[in-house]
Amino acid sequence: MCYAIPAKLIAIHGKIGTIDYFGETRKILLDLDNVKIGDYVYAQGGVLVRTIPEKEALEILEYWKEIFFELKKTDEALANIDQKNLSPNALAVLQKVNLRKTLHKDELLSLLALKDPKELQVLYEIANNVRSREHGNASCVHGIIEFSNYCTNNCYYCGIREEKALERYRMSQEEIVSAAKHAVNHYGFKALVLQSGEDLWYDDDKLCAIVKEVRKLGVLVFVSFGLRSVETYRKLYEAGARAALLRFETSNADIFAKMRPRTKLSDRINLIKALKEIGYVLATGFLLGLPDETDEDIVNNILLTHSLAPDMYSFGPLIPSSNTPFAKVAKVNPDLVLKAMALTRFVAPDSNILVTTALETLDPSAKRGALLAGANSMMINVTPMQYRRLYGIYDNRIDADREVDKSVQETVELLYNLGRAPTDIGV
Ligand code: SF4
Repeated sequence: MCYAIPAKLIAIHGKIGTIDYFGETRKILLDLDNVKIGDYVYAQGGVLVRTIPEKEALEILEYWKEIFFELKKTDEALANIDQKNLSPNALAVLQKVNLRKTLHKDELLSLLALKDPKELQVLYEIANNVRSREHGNASCVHGIIEFSNYCTNNCYYCGIREEKALERYRMSQEEIVSAAKHAVNHYGFKALVLQSGEDLWYDDDKLCAIVKEVRKLGVLVFVSFGLRSVETYRKLYEAGARAALLRFETSNADIFAKMRPRTKLSDRINLIKALKEIGYVLATGFLLGLPDETDEDIVNNILLTHSLAPDMYSFGPLIPSSNTPFAKVAKVNPDLVLKAMALTRFVAPDSNILVTTALETLDPSAKRGALLAGANSMMINVTPMQYRRLYGIYDNRIDADREVDKSVQETVELLYNLGRAPTDIGV
């Protein structure tokens, strides 16, 4: 299985290249030396990650040719909406989004307040329509390796917070690289997220060495190491990391202060801005369902995420974790997450929106629902099984015991069912 379709480089302007697959073109950052027009390449998140021999590329393209246009037809059919069936309000939203006009906060609040299942269905269909218009049937599937469950923080909602008694683990550099190799060579991943708690045992040298080795595998290296210095993230970029995931969790400073002791919202926001300035493909977002959170907070969260100009939006529901201060927090309604995704698609029509495993854990059927409500990106956990269940950031993780083979099979089936192709190759 391959998670990206190779494309042909057809134009170069400085560091930006134009690539083509099946007549669709995308712009990418040429992040490798010595590439030339006519080369076949893999790209992820708008970044060139490796070249591929022409013979191999043509064989893969021949395989995809069979199904690519069929998938496209399926996606277009699912994204089609009959405007005759839209209420005047829904039609007004669609028209504004299509004209790339900004939806006002009041309008977003009124959409977030929708509860009637029929109205929600229309909301999701419009979001799916916008996604299809902006991205075609491209979707991305990244792998994630969670390599340490140590953390120096004590976030109230988190199952690996420092004060929680649990079995801790740290993967060695060899183990991490070996897991990455397996994900790339056996399953064909082209982008890998390396994630841990804020574990300072991994100093800059250790992290850079890991990133360098994983980058050598020809993948987009996504780092998710929490609040570290700008200097550290600069070094990681130089070592080959090109994407970074750091959520601010909530735009409400009071709620933030209550749930993340010893850390400041402004520090996180400043770091997120710095990541963008360094040049990272940026993924950020927030948690949904925090105690005392209002609809206005949620809309503010979406607007703050948008103002940070991320390449990917990541937001999931808070899932209570036992033996934490938030163990008894009420369960989030999955529709709240889907509504936030739909609204995000309206605010940022060309965004990439991730379906988190937290949403899947909350409601296994919500993954499909999310992909039909504006989302276009997924992650598969490729952490070695002996560590998987120990990274319990929340309880009953759906992927804690799920073999990678099964996750891959289910993901491919879902993608095909929805007419999506794994073509996250450019912007
Ligand atoms: S949410 Fe992140 S920073 Fe907070 S305790 Fe958990 S792993 Fe650490």
